[in-house]
Amino acid sequence: MPTHATASATPDSCHHADGSTRPPVIRTDILIIGAGPVGLFAAFQAGVLGLKCELIDVLDRAGGQCTELYPEKPIYDIPAVPGCLAQDLVDRLLEQCAPFAFPMHFNERANGLAEVAAMPAAEHTPGHEHAHRLLVTTDTGKRFNVAAVLICAGAGAFAPQRVALPEAAALEDRHLHYAVRDTARFAGKRVVVAGGGDSALDWALALRKTAARVTLVHRREGFRAADGTVAEMRAAVAAGEMDFVVGMLGALKTEGETLAGVDIRTRDDTVSLPADELIALYGLVSEPGPIAHWDLDMRAGRILVDTSTYESSRRGIFAAGDIAFYANKQKLILSGFHEAALALRRAYHYAFPEKALVHVHTSNNATLKEKLTHA
Ligand SMILES: Cc1cc2nc3c(=O)[nH]c(=O)nc-3n(C[C@H](O)[C@H](O)[C@H](O)COP(=O)(O)OP(=O)(O)OC[C@H]3O[C@@H](n4cnc5c(N)ncnc54)[C@H](O)[C@@H]3O)c2cc1C
Repeated sequence: MPTHATASATPDSCHHADGSTRPPVIRTDILIIGAGPVGLFAAFQAGVLGLKCELIDVLDRAGGQCTELYPEKPIYDIPAVPGCLAQDLVDRLLEQCAPFAFPMHFNERANGLAEVAAMPAAEHTPGHEHAHRLLVTTDTGKRFNVAAVLICAGAGAFAPQRVALPEAAALEDRHLHYAVRDTARFAGKRVVVAGGGDSALDWALALRKTAARVTLVHRREGFRAADGTVAEMRAAVAAGEMDFVVGMLGALKTEGETLAGVDIRTRDDTVSLPADELIALYGLVSEPGPIAHWDLDMRAGRILVDTSTYESSRRGIFAAGDIAFYANKQKLILSGFHEAALALRRAYHYAFPEKALVHVHTSNNATLKEKLTHA
């Protein structure tokens, strides 16, 4: 499946009075917000129903909670799958929807929602009236003009857990990093990596090869990382290739606008380390994000839906998976699959108001069967 794609763009609204251009509006049937397990299955269902769709996720990869929180935990309650690791489930969902090649846009957070007029008359396809369209904008400025939106945003947009020290905000993105995007910027620098999960250990190990010195800081001796990675890190420390300090960040020392060092509170003392760059990898937290302000009926931060259609209180906006709220809702992957399947059947009528959706089993639809069999 392609990533960061911009398929099906139409030329409307690209040119501005000042001569500048914006990326063209992407016109499709359905926008799926969230590429967690439910969003991925929804993409497959959209393809089966003959709908075009695009997916966005604020993260840089698909998988939602399965990939970010428990990739190596077994899951036993997916129908017909007696057991698989969470990441394997995500990989299979990606494989399942791959035949439709729907574009996935990563590092894109759904921000704005507006109702827009139906297509200009000049763009009407005869007999294909789009009475109701929605425009979703992302934080990077992408715009999607769609017949319906399916929100599969789970617990909300994942964001890095930030360093809770007064000096932190001013250093963010300059000398304090919550992700490593460009390893070259750490070459020859004194780098402190804070955290005890796989990301912290992986990056500490990787950067020790090019940084002047890497120090891993974690609040305890034990780690939430793969045994092999922990063993590799301990071997690197024993070989003098990097340092490990048990403690917590106590203060960040600055010189002008740059980082000069960090104070680590250990069990008995405070250790001062000189440092040029701090990488804090404490994991992710979920934030309700802008969807909470889309004027949808919400309950406890989740979207209230009608369980016959999984439509929200606003026309054409649906919710499935953990973000959906209704009586007796279960936060389980299989519930989300069902919700997405029903939501899309209703959403079909927004995309094709003039057509009746005739139910055909996938195996009885020759075109679909061909597509799925030869994938
Ligand atoms: C430790 C643990 C173990 C679990 N074990 C099981 C199990 O064994 N079986 C089971 O069925 N369930 C299990 N669950 C629950 C299961 O993971 C969830 O029900 C499932 O992940 C919900 O899927 P989802 O696609 O709705 O949301 P998520 O997996 O949360 O994915 C939502 C996606 O939406 C994105 N997003 C959110 N807001 C925006 C926005 N504004 N713009 C763009 N993207 C956005 C997020 O970045 C995320 O990728 C477990 C959960 C945990 C935490």
